[in-house]
Amino acid sequence: MAKLYFYYSAMNAGKSTWLLQSAYNYQERGMATVMFVPTIDARFGTGKVTSRIGLSRDAVSFDDKFDFFAHVAKAVEGNGKIRCVLIDEAQFLRKAQVEQLKRISIELGLPVLAYGLRTDFMGEPFEGSKYLLAWAEEMTEIKTICHCGRKATMTLRVDDKGRVLRSGEQVQIGGNESYVSVCYGHFVKGQPQ
Ligand SMILES: [Zn+2]
Repeated sequence: MAKLYFYYSAMNAGKSTWLLQSAYNYQERGMATVMFVPTIDARFGTGKVTSRIGLSRDAVSFDDKFDFFAHVAKAVEGNGKIRCVLIDEAQFLRKAQVEQLKRISIELGLPVLAYGLRTDFMGEPFEGSKYLLAWAEEMTEIKTICHCGRKATMTLRVDDKGRVLRSGEQVQIGGNESYVSVCYGHFVKGQPQ
């Protein structure tokens, strides 16, 4: 039986690189994948999964209202080689969309691999991640490290002067803020370095 998988981490751990590698592994064996990225992720232009090490591939962009089940069911009709569904920035999924991903794995028999952050810069779970953590059948942590050498599990938002920001919109678009992955201790103390 195909499963729903959740690959989670803090920021800048290489999730998109993992995703693109998975897509490549299918492609190498003559199979196809369907790839999704949120419209909110405008870092490198929409409709592309882009990794920090320079790889990128076109993807279908989704918003809050997007119906994953309908889209994938139709895509499979048109292309019998599709064997896997991949989602980047899966923290931005809505609860109903995570339910659709479960249905894709069960009713369409396709594995769904979702890649995302567990928590936002305030330490709160994103909606998509909350339900992926609850419902995914397999979970894998993609590890990255804090400046102290411990595993980084949290993300701090830092302004252009290096000050830690503790409140604001969950998703900031087009600002001068940056994000730093840290261990829980340095998250609580607010020490990005
Ligand atoms: Zn630390």
